[in-house]
Amino acid sequence: MPDLLKPSQELASPELATEYARWFVNRRAYTRQSETAHLSSGRHYYYRPKNSGAEVHLTLRDIERHLEGHITLGLYAINPRTQRVKWMAIDADYRRALEDLLRLQYELGQSGIQAALEQSRRGGHLWIFFESPVPANQARIFVRHIAGKLSVELKGSGKTDGLELFPRQDRVEAGQFGSAIRGPLGVHRAAGKRYWFYGAAYNLPAQMEYLRSLRRVTERQLAELIADIPAVGEVALPPASYKAAGQSGFQILDYVEARRTVGRNWVTQCPACAAAGHDRSQDNLAISVAEPWKYLCWAGCTKEQIRAALGVPLPLYSGDQR
Ligand SMILES: [Zn+2]
Repeated sequence: MPDLLKPSQELASPELATEYARWFVNRRAYTRQSETAHLSSGRHYYYRPKNSGAEVHLTLRDIERHLEGHITLGLYAINPRTQRVKWMAIDADYRRALEDLLRLQYELGQSGIQAALEQSRRGGHLWIFFESPVPANQARIFVRHIAGKLSVELKGSGKTDGLELFPRQDRVEAGQFGSAIRGPLGVHRAAGKRYWFYGAAYNLPAQMEYLRSLRRVTERQLAELIADIPAVGEVALPPASYKAAGQSGFQILDYVEARRTVGRNWVTQCPACAAAGHDRSQDNLAISVAEPWKYLCWAGCTKEQIRAALGVPLPLYSGDQR
């Protein structure tokens, strides 16, 4: 459990605040957690501070006060001018949340990514930092892919339990904000507790040193990681003669219509997702162009589920594992 800590025990400085802003602040609009509980729900909601109706911009002094525990900031993920993010956070707050986050942290480590696990009230937040801001959609593609690989559910892919990604969307329009997440190292106003990163001693200097030490993911590294999985951007190509490779048996392209390729894959709606009313953007199913008998659902549907949704269930005792 997080340690109880009197906010006044931690001292920030303009230098620490500057560093924190460089890592975490994507735009100067922000939210603040209410000091008082909502009368009916008892929750401490986040609101966007206003000064006589005008937007208030985040200052270094605000960040210092956040780090010292006097106020608690919520930070937005996307810079609306560039549609880029400095970080990606994965929020999980269900019963087996920590287990899923630890598996993700390990899997990311296998790709050379040092992700930092932060405590939260009911689970945790897993943070990935980029060396310089990367396109929000690219970051989301990669994390969805890793989650799908581990069959970890995303919220909105059929279950109420699941991971939430920050940013929650690929882009924000002018005048929009997207979702904010509690700024790391902040003190939760309701619990009066600070949620630390697991990777270091539970004090501000050690935590900042830990964050400083993490290897950042470069834009190029991210691009390489997603080169083999479907990316955003459409290329209109008619399906190739996918049976030319001499493959017999089940061919998924006989059953789904893939009208576009992205990178090295056909992309279309996943039949199993569709059966559950999901994947409205019709891009969860990736089919390899070079080896069209290989296919994968980003949201984590199994081959059994996909074949069943197509009405051609996998034979139980044959060698056909497609
Ligand atoms: Zn699916």
